[in-house]
Amino acid sequence: MKQFRYGALIVLAMAVLLAACSRQDTTKYLVMGTNAEFPPFETRGGPGGAEVVGFDVDVAKAIAAKVGLPLKIEDMKFDSLLPALDAGQVDMVLAGMTITPDRAQNVDFSDPYYKATQVVLMRKGDPVPTSKEDLKGRTISVQFGTTGDGAAAEIAGSENVRQFTSMLDAVVALMNSQVDFAVLDEQPAINFQKKNPADLELVRLAFDDEYYGVAVKKGNTELLARINETLAEIAADGRYDRFVDYWMVQMIGSAELEAE
Ligand code: GLN
Repeated sequence: MKQFRYGALIVLAMAVLLAACSRQDTTKYLVMGTNAEFPPFETRGGPGGAEVVGFDVDVAKAIAAKVGLPLKIEDMKFDSLLPALDAGQVDMVLAGMTITPDRAQNVDFSDPYYKATQVVLMRKGDPVPTSKEDLKGRTISVQFGTTGDGAAAEIAGSENVRQFTSMLDAVVALMNSQVDFAVLDEQPAINFQKKNPADLELVRLAFDDEYYGVAVKKGNTELLARINETLAEIAADGRYDRFVDYWMVQMIGSAELEAE
């Protein structure tokens, strides 16, 4: 009798397990790849910092709603994002990623959804550069593989550029006097400066305009069409402005925007 009960229990357990497995197998997600170290576009937040939150996440949620699938977020290093897209591990990349001709050879980009530029962060009290010339031959920290990485190498010479896999580490290196400057995108720079106003100063030099786009695997025209529709809709119905107001005005520099 006892043995039979165990047998029945095992059968029941297996049935539950099978049901759980098949449920997992049949649930499809829209998978967003990102690097959650780029506040206010993507960073750690929510209860205990367990969630990835930010402007890009809100845009991605709107895209997922349009596609009709739950959103799943894969957080990885910035330079792993496009290979992950190519390998089919993620469906789309939203990572404050600038549309560049090089990247556009390997992936397809949506319409631009945010205008950005590079800026310089420096230690408060150091002599303030007035042009890019003043950065020549000085040491600059950057996040590896970003447009800031390329811009810094062009100005200071690649031998003077220190590459970090995380944007936060690049800024910490500056604060610890390991480099003279950091070159990074404007909004994360504003965020880091506002969090460390006594230590950091933000300088705007003549850097080009950049435009962020959502990247999809080359040839995924179906998803790209849904993404562009969503971008147009959120711009038209006021959601885009609300995301900007929340993430770039209310939340910028907030303690809730942890970069780690
Ligand atoms: N916009 C920059 C780029 O595309 C930086 C993006 C990032 O670090 N998440 O290279």
